[in-house]
Amino acid sequence: MNSNVFFLFFTIFCMCSLQSDACQPKMLSAPNKRIIKPPANYYLGIRTASFEIEYTGFTLEQEAAFDMAADIWASIVVSDVPITIKANYIGMPGLGGITLPNMKKNFSSAPEIEKWYVSALANSLAGYDLAPDEMDMDIHIGMDDWYYGLDGACPATKADFVSLCLHEICHGLGFVGVAKVSGSLGSFGEITAADFGISTSFPFLSMEGKSSVFDTYLRNNADQFLCDTIIFPNNSPELKIAMTTNDVYFDGANAQFVDPIKKVRIHAPTSFLLGTSMVHLNEVSYSAADTNTLMTPYYEYGVVTHAPGFITTAVLQDIGWTLNATYTSINQNDIDLTYTYVNNIFRVLSDIDVMEINVYTINGQQVLSNKNTNHIDLSNIEEKVIIVHIKSKTSKWDAVKLVHH
Ligand SMILES: [Zn+2]
Repeated sequence: MNSNVFFLFFTIFCMCSLQSDACQPKMLSAPNKRIIKPPANYYLGIRTASFEIEYTGFTLEQEAAFDMAADIWASIVVSDVPITIKANYIGMPGLGGITLPNMKKNFSSAPEIEKWYVSALANSLAGYDLAPDEMDMDIHIGMDDWYYGLDGACPATKADFVSLCLHEICHGLGFVGVAKVSGSLGSFGEITAADFGISTSFPFLSMEGKSSVFDTYLRNNADQFLCDTIIFPNNSPELKIAMTTNDVYFDGANAQFVDPIKKVRIHAPTSFLLGTSMVHLNEVSYSAADTNTLMTPYYEYGVVTHAPGFITTAVLQDIGWTLNATYTSINQNDIDLTYTYVNNIFRVLSDIDVMEINVYTINGQQVLSNKNTNHIDLSNIEEKVIIVHIKSKTSKWDAVKLVHH
C-alpha cells in the first residue's frame, strides 16, 4: 500500500489536531520509491555539533535509528553547545511524530529582539547553554509500519524511521513558526498550553503575541510579509486569509537563492491545521521525487530521505544557523551507485563517467585518489574501515563505507 502518513511537528503543539481529518493517512496514486543518502560529511565522520538524547519507550533499534538522524544533523549544523532532546515513543496510530521545541527570545546575542528562537539555535548563537536544566526539544513518535534499518533499504510497505526522525529534529532546530488560526482570526504567538493536550519537559512560556524568526521570512506573492502588522494586524481576518490561500513563501536570501523558481513555497492550505500549516514546505511543490521533500508535512512509504536538501539547510542559515563549512559546497549524492569490491579492487559498475575516486579514513583523512578511471586498488590501505567517495564528471557523487580486509 502506498500510504502517506501524517508527519507533524510543532512547537507548542497540539494533539487535538491529531483527531482532525487532516491527520488521516493520505493515499497516494503511485509508489515513488527513491533514496536520498546522508551528506558526504556524515560518511566522512565530520561532526560540528553534538546531541544528547534522553529516550523513553524506545527499543534499541529505534534508538539506533534516532541516533543516526541526530548524527546526520551533527554533520550539518554548527554548535558548541550540545543539543538536547527528550525523545518519547508513544506509539499512537496515525501520528508520525510531533516536536515541541523549547523557545527563547531576547537572549544576549539574539540577532533580532522580540522574536522567538528555538533554544538549540539560541544556544548556538549565544555560545553557551542559556538554560542548562532544560531540554531543547521534546519529540514524540507515533506508530506506523516503521523500517528501522540504517541502510536506506526501506521496502515499499514500510515508512523509514530515520527519515521521520530527521524531519522532527529539523523542527526542533528552528524550521517552525507560531502561526495559528482560531475562528475567523489569524495570529502569530497566540498559541497556548490549551492548544496542546501534551505537556512539555521545559516551561511552556506565553508567546506574548510575538512571531518566531522563521515567521518573519514568510510573505505572499505580492511581496507582503505576513508579520507586517500594518498590512496584517495580529489576530485579524486579513491574517487568516493570508495564512490559508496557498500563497505563502519563505523569503530568506539563502533559501530564495536555492529555489528562485518555486520561491520556497510553504504549506498553507485553505483549511488551517495547527502544526502542519505554515511550518512545512509545500506538499505539492516538493513531492517525494524532489530532493527537498524532507520538510513537507506528509511522508510516503518506501521513500528514504537521509539528507535535508539544500532548501531546508538554506532556511536554517537564513534563521541564523551556521552550517558546516564544507556542507553547502557538496553536490547532491544522486548517483545510482552499483559497484564490486573483489580482491581489494573497488570497481564502479554504474553507467557514469567517473571523474574521481577518493578514499578517506573514517576520520575524514584522504589516503588515496584516482582520477578518470572507474576502479581503484585498495590493497595498500591499512585502515580497516574506509570511505570511498565517487564523483562523476557531471558533479554528481556518492559514497560508500567499506570494511577493508
Ligand atoms: Zn513536520
